[in-house]
Amino acid sequence: MLPSDKTSTSPSNAPFIDDLKQRCGNEPEFLQAVEEVMDSLVPIARTNEAYTKARILERLVEPDRVVMFRVVWEDDTGAVQINRGYRVQFNNTIGPYKGGLRFHPTVTLSVLKFLAFEQIFKNSLTGLPMGAGKGGSDFDPRGKSDHEVMRFCQSFMTELFRHVGHNKDVPAGDIGVGAREIGYLFGHYKRLTGQYTGALTGKGLSFGGSLVRTEATGYGTIYFAREMLTRRNESLDGKRCLVSGSGNVALYAAQKLMELGAIVVSLSDSGGTLHFPKGLTTDQFAHIQELKEKRRGRLSEFSQNDPSVEYLEGQRPWGISADCAFPCATQNEIALADAKTLVDGGVRLVAEGANMPSSNDAVRYFHSKEILFAPGKAANAGGVAVSGLEQSQNSLRIFWDRKEVDRRLQEIMSSIHDKCVDHGKREDGSIDYVCGANVAGFVKVANAMVAYGIN
Ligand code: NDP
Repeated sequence: MLPSDKTSTSPSNAPFIDDLKQRCGNEPEFLQAVEEVMDSLVPIARTNEAYTKARILERLVEPDRVVMFRVVWEDDTGAVQINRGYRVQFNNTIGPYKGGLRFHPTVTLSVLKFLAFEQIFKNSLTGLPMGAGKGGSDFDPRGKSDHEVMRFCQSFMTELFRHVGHNKDVPAGDIGVGAREIGYLFGHYKRLTGQYTGALTGKGLSFGGSLVRTEATGYGTIYFAREMLTRRNESLDGKRCLVSGSGNVALYAAQKLMELGAIVVSLSDSGGTLHFPKGLTTDQFAHIQELKEKRRGRLSEFSQNDPSVEYLEGQRPWGISADCAFPCATQNEIALADAKTLVDGGVRLVAEGANMPSSNDAVRYFHSKEILFAPGKAANAGGVAVSGLEQSQNSLRIFWDRKEVDRRLQEIMSSIHDKCVDHGKREDGSIDYVCGANVAGFVKVANAMVAYGIN
């Protein structure tokens, strides 16, 4: 049972973090992710002799390996372009490395290490046999032609194929890597290896993909929020909900919210926020989906054709009053000041569809105000869970229908919620979902590491 003080952070993790800062001082996102996790884990691991003796925490923050490589490709004018590619293979204690690829100009080693580190706990929480990895490049697919994206993906895979495989490391999509990119990457992997295996997930339905994989992260986030509310005898029906982003996670989170009777009042992209004072309609959703998924356009274009919608240029959605918030764009999109604005605007539930969208002090603030807060590693685990189900279907050479995959996704999200409750219960009966997710994800991995001996 955890103490009831909702703002407490563990002073006992300070020496651990100081030591890590010496070695990774120039990796701010990675340090931020480790610090958040160690607030929960240090008190537990330090009282367990087996973990202390085997130095599990110290081993857990060192990746198994990091691969960095040059990616050279030719743009449509014939000019030679150079990007940097990465694969961080963080921990394969409970299964082959698993985690997405991100193509975005903000990609650095620090960002990928934070994402791969989070993946350890997330993948463990799903209950499926998946280790943790993440990769990508500082390549920006925005504004590139299909041919340029294809040439980049082929060059990227020309190095990556040596390091991945269905029993070794199974990448998927993330920011900037959707169905188009996975198709080019898988096509080239198949060509280079001469093998048709499930070495990537998020594949198209005609070549080994799973139904519901596209929707899984967004839907899963909403299923998780529904569980949190159900525990309090509440529902999403009629709740005004802020969604940030308008990519894969955001769109399907919005769609599921509408399906469950919630009122979606915002979507956003890196240019600004669309505010729907009366709630997003299914017609508007279909137009935005077409704009974003097919035409790769900007939300500012949408507002020009629909006077019922307000476009807040250069702004995030957090200033709009609402009951619930679903940050689904990127890391650190909710700073402490945004957290205060959200709470002042009426928000009582925050569930993270993105990875680490809230800063650590924003999370502490939510806890201090008794906001129901679901960290990304629990709430957005539906994507990797259905990736795991895609791997199972590929291995068994079967194809489950939509109903079956969705049923399994709901079951997994419900079981992740139960694990968070079991490990995150405070003395006053409330739930610390951050601690619950960290501890529940950790124990399985730590016990396996102890069993393997010193390696
Ligand atoms: P997409 O590329 O499909 O969409 C990303 C969205 O976020 C776009 O609307 C993009 O706007 C916006 N965005 C990206 N960077 C910024 C930024 N710096 N500032 C403001 N807006 C930004 O990515 P996904 O939807 O796949 O991923 C979103 C988040 O969810 C990420 O944190 C990812 O790690 C996480 N996630 C994704 C999973 C998946 O299955 N795809 C699984 C689990 C977590 P614009 O179009 O203008 O760039």
